[in-house]
Amino acid sequence: MAEVHTGSCLCGAVAFEVEAPLRPVTACHCTQCRAWSGHYVAATSVPLDRFRLLNDVGLRWVRASAAARRGFCGVCGARLFWQPDAEARISIGAGALDGPTGLAIAEHIFTEDAGDYYAPEGPPPVATVAQGHTTGACLCGACRFTVPVPVGEATACHCTQCRKLSGHYAASFDVAETDVVWQARAPLATYTSPGGGTRGFCGDCGSGLWFRAADGAFSVEAGCLALPTGGRLASHIFTAFKGDYYTLDDGLPQSPGA
Ligand SMILES: [Zn+2]
Ligand SMILES: [Zn+2]
Ligand SMILES: [Zn+2]
Repeated sequence: MAEVHTGSCLCGAVAFEVEAPLRPVTACHCTQCRAWSGHYVAATSVPLDRFRLLNDVGLRWVRASAAARRGFCGVCGARLFWQPDAEARISIGAGALDGPTGLAIAEHIFTEDAGDYYAPEGPPPVATVAQGHTTGACLCGACRFTVPVPVGEATACHCTQCRKLSGHYAASFDVAETDVVWQARAPLATYTSPGGGTRGFCGDCGSGLWFRAADGAFSVEAGCLALPTGGRLASHIFTAFKGDYYTLDDGLPQSPGA
């Protein structure tokens, strides 16, 4: 019998299983994947006949482009799937998989579209010069805001919650919530996870937008910000919970916990 991997969103309203073998992980840094995931996408893939939904009550699809759709959980906002129309296969955020995956990132694509606050491989570049404000937006554009730049230092979080929600791991900039000026947010949805933190995401497209900790500290997801951000990734936290399919090779400080 083939090896079976299970996976889910954070809240459990979407759950699935896949039969091995799983394709090595592709990391995509395109602008769409960055806005949607909150950082960048890292996904494995299987033929559709080796993919089974175990629970789809939360599953929502959004047309991502003329050639593909993206699947997310409408309850917790987890970004899960990418499915091309022309092929009988589905890509799955590696962070959604439970337990050790046995996988590794095999390639980075669309690296020319990567954010300015990190590098796809190796140390982050020197922070860009940025003045005034930049725009944050979800993939479908229904949620839009401005925030002052430079945004400062980003923190990458590898906790189980951030990995399940982003499909990889999260990266966010601490900002004062009062500095965030919304132009539109009609479909904004929120999910409060165990521990009391609340995350805001676009209910129409699933893009991750912000996190408000139980103590009120506010951060915006780095991937949704237009460039230049003037920011730079500075540290990794909760690395004790990181996925097994990537290595942290950027030389930044790592903390196993907060
Ligand atoms: Zn969910
Ligand atoms: Zn949207
Ligand atoms: Zn986290």
